[in-house]
Amino acid sequence: MPKNIVIGSHVWVGDPELVWIDGQIINVNGEEAEIQTSNGKTVVANLSKLHPKDMEIPEGGVDDMIKLENLHEPGVLHNLATRFKINEIYTYTGNILIAINPFQRLSHLYDASMMKRYKGAAFGELSPHVFAIADVAYREMINEGKSNSILVSGESGAGKTETTKLLMRYLAYLGGHTAAEGRTVERQVLESNPVLEAFGNAKTVKNNNSSRFGKFVEIQFDKKGRISGAAIRTYLLERSRVCQISDPERNYHCFYLLCAAPPEVDFIKIKSFELIDSNSYQEKERYKLGNPKSLHYLNQSNCYELVGVSDAHDYLTTKRAMDIVGISQKEQDAIFRVVAAILHLGNVDFAKGEESDSSILKDEESKFRLQMTADLLMCDPHALEDTLCKRVMITPEEIIKRSLDPNGAAVSRDGLAKTIYSRLFDWLVEKINLSIGQDPSSKCLIGILDIYGFESFKTNSFEQFCINFTNEKLQQHSNQHVFKMEQEEYTKEEIDWSYIEFVDNQDILDLIEKKPGGIIALLDEACMFPKSNHETFSQKLYQTFKDHRRFIKPKLTRSDFTIVHYAGEVRYQSDQFLDKNKDYVVAEHQNLLSSSSCPFVAGLFPSLSDEGAKSSKFSSIGSRFKLQLQQLMDTLNSTEPHYIRCVKPNNFLKPAIFENINVLQQLRSGGVLEAVRIKCAGYPIHRTFDDFLNRFGSLAPEVFEGNYEEEVACKKILEKMGLTDYQIGKTKVFLRAGQMAELDAQRASI
Ligand code: ATP
Ligand code: MG
Repeated sequence: MPKNIVIGSHVWVGDPELVWIDGQIINVNGEEAEIQTSNGKTVVANLSKLHPKDMEIPEGGVDDMIKLENLHEPGVLHNLATRFKINEIYTYTGNILIAINPFQRLSHLYDASMMKRYKGAAFGELSPHVFAIADVAYREMINEGKSNSILVSGESGAGKTETTKLLMRYLAYLGGHTAAEGRTVERQVLESNPVLEAFGNAKTVKNNNSSRFGKFVEIQFDKKGRISGAAIRTYLLERSRVCQISDPERNYHCFYLLCAAPPEVDFIKIKSFELIDSNSYQEKERYKLGNPKSLHYLNQSNCYELVGVSDAHDYLTTKRAMDIVGISQKEQDAIFRVVAAILHLGNVDFAKGEESDSSILKDEESKFRLQMTADLLMCDPHALEDTLCKRVMITPEEIIKRSLDPNGAAVSRDGLAKTIYSRLFDWLVEKINLSIGQDPSSKCLIGILDIYGFESFKTNSFEQFCINFTNEKLQQHSNQHVFKMEQEEYTKEEIDWSYIEFVDNQDILDLIEKKPGGIIALLDEACMFPKSNHETFSQKLYQTFKDHRRFIKPKLTRSDFTIVHYAGEVRYQSDQFLDKNKDYVVAEHQNLLSSSSCPFVAGLFPSLSDEGAKSSKFSSIGSRFKLQLQQLMDTLNSTEPHYIRCVKPNNFLKPAIFENINVLQQLRSGGVLEAVRIKCAGYPIHRTFDDFLNRFGSLAPEVFEGNYEEEVACKKILEKMGLTDYQIGKTKVFLRAGQMAELDAQRASI
């Protein structure tokens, strides 16, 4: 039995509802303890299942978990809940900042005076804050000439993008130019956000403004520490949303912005946003879009508007941001023309043609929509119809031209819409990068990563597989870093650290990305093999990984597989893996659009050289993503990382509700508990000799009479108390988890 758990001890005990509840031990019988819980129940639990409760933490909690005497799950959770109650949404765990989404504007936290306070303040001196993290990153960069990165993670709706924007704002404040020098670069960096959000964000069930892509922003600084350039990299835009949405979600914001937009001529005259009457001037009339409720790509869901958001207003904000990032009026016109074309394209429907398995345009509406699409994309309507209804198949052996049935034609139509949209998105990113410009002479940068967190849903497909793969990579990166930091501290204090164990997730990464033989490699093989399907692919996985401890074949399935991720098991449905991994632009789509008489549209589809055309037969999204991720990891590895874990306190998206189970799950998948575990595996409690003597001197008053050196005095106290597994460094005492509480208990009993 742990020495510090006795009758009368305050402990945490498991609870079916709250996960953990505090209570006091009223009886101990062998290995079983009887506990009176704080909600008035009496429960019996095994002693090994109890955790000692910190009795000395201040009322408002501690701002760094490291200050907790007992660094364990219930302690961490309780501390966060205590702080959240008083709107202290930020807490450190060593170098990780935990940020709990308040779901309410806490404007005082982010105003100009706050920025001023955090500028140059010593880390830990002020309350935990995103500004403090950005400030440390900036100062490390200036003082040590080393690039830094800030990795923001968390589940959908946890606040990553808001946090990222706060970081960028603060960095623009630190590295901004004076008015005389011109403020263009930092303004462009900041205004890239609304542009990317308009085209890459959408309302989902989890978040009204959910980013449907991952993003890494690299902000470059000159020798004087001023922002001199920036580069944005994006990852895995969700393509399927363009054609398929479910109630109550929405498609990408830009579609609704366009439908609500006032016409060009009039809005230029409008000085104040308030003058807009969204019903009187409609850009959609210009493009003959009609009522949004009649548009197939929008009307699959009943949600058209967002509470508290004016799409007409956002249309103008987006255009203004486009102006700032350097997208010309002409280009803006073309962009929204393409957006309108996609909406029209969605309403082109097909019916059975005369020949078997062929298709024709279904009705007059479809003919009109097809004509509009062709007009807006400036391509030949007959050629457009042909590319939708027929398909040339190039196999290594032969070239086959065949008609598509109505279903096939609809798939082709959606494929075209998705390709155009993702090309448009890539164009925007590239344009922003070109226009902000890179600073080739910059040696230092701060990278900010805003990327989707671990996902485990009822059904998990290729997207979740890629997302969770990303998180495994980042998890490894962060574990190694936490581990390294601990080691550095131990080395500095010259204590032996050889026995800290550290479980790596390399085996999961091998399972996924090893070449040859990993899941991605096997998937690529399946995609290149004409006779493969998802079942043969899954059989191959079952065979290859039957003894892999991170891979499970669930019972009663021919194609599902389960990966034991660091954050828990996820069962994947493989039926769409092959399709989703294949990325080829249908040759006819490519030819049609590259010959558009609109240079903008043609520019989205540069003609491929013969060489390119041949090799474009199959390109693997999985492998390309793996490569992108490796490049990201290489960049991150050359920087000093800082971590921010965003946490969503409840699924109602409402303030002041803190759900224990929910939060714990996120702390687990965000690697916070793993960081705690790594710390606990070593010596999580570090106290300077002075601190230690002040606190525990009373346990052995005789040592003060002996006039010993501080270090020796500490040792004497520890020996007297019968502790063995501790370490004495050059300036600090290092204790195992729980040893501090043990000493406190003894102190309380004298
Ligand atoms: P996704 O993965 O879906 O993109 P996310 O983690 O980027 O999610 P955000 O869009 O940043 O989530 O945040 C969701 C919402 O939570 C915001 O629209 C805002 O209403 C609220 N929110 C987040 N952070 C804060 C904050 N610091 N203060 C006030 N509200 C916030
Ligand atoms: Mg986001």
